[in-house]
Amino acid sequence: MVTLDKIVDKARKEGRTLLTEIEAKEMLKQAGIDVVETRLAANEDEAVSMSREFGFPVVLKIASPDVVHKSDAGGVKLGLKTSNQVAKAYEDIMKSIREKYPKAKIQGASVQKMARPGVEVIIGMSKDAQFGPVIMFGLGGVMVEALKDVAFRVAPLAEQDARDMLDEVRGSAVLGGFRGGPPVDRSSLVQLLLRVSDLVATCSHVGELDLNPVLAYPHGLSVVDARLVLETRP
Ligand code: ADP
Ligand code: MG
Repeated sequence: MVTLDKIVDKARKEGRTLLTEIEAKEMLKQAGIDVVETRLAANEDEAVSMSREFGFPVVLKIASPDVVHKSDAGGVKLGLKTSNQVAKAYEDIMKSIREKYPKAKIQGASVQKMARPGVEVIIGMSKDAQFGPVIMFGLGGVMVEALKDVAFRVAPLAEQDARDMLDEVRGSAVLGGFRGGPPVDRSSLVQLLLRVSDLVATCSHVGELDLNPVLAYPHGLSVVDARLVLETRP
């Protein structure tokens, strides 16, 4: 198993503070945070064989420490149902990234199962000069940029803080259910907020964290993307 320190050392040695999605998810996993299982395929053949092992449909994403917004760069292909689709997606992703980021160091593609649809939310952590670590909860997807509908609390969070954050967002009614379905599982979201708060309190390496999106379900949730920036201050 890759240890947390190994991931941090590798990135620091390469002179970068941004972890890849795979590295960020690995760190989260070790902090007891459930993420969608994600593996690195170094080439097209590996991507195909991993997809078969996971079972279709799968998602392929660019794995590069130089590409922050993967879908903007044509680096995310969702809902791939066959080996052929995976092979083509791998090629399309690499072509698009080479065009848009000619200098990017490409590790390959991340492979993961396509998660079922849910209410998209975002959970984040950033460090404020005055208050230190601040935890954010917001409604995700397209809405997060347009509405800036987010709630903040200074870490560490108490359980009641996390509950309050869910109620505080203006669009909290969408937590009532995905497309008219049953309400989402609030206690899973509260637990996730508390785990993020714990991680920040116990791991001094984390400078900034974004789980975006988290798909919330009537039972449980899926963390499908993670961005982690290492702390630069000693
Ligand atoms: P980025 O934020 O870097 O553009 P994401 O990994 O968040 O890339 O992927 C873009 C979008 O694709 C997400 O907002 C989400 O809607 C969808 N998505 C990503 N991974 C999965 C997955 N494993 N299952 C289902 N949908 C996904
Ligand atoms: Mg994302």
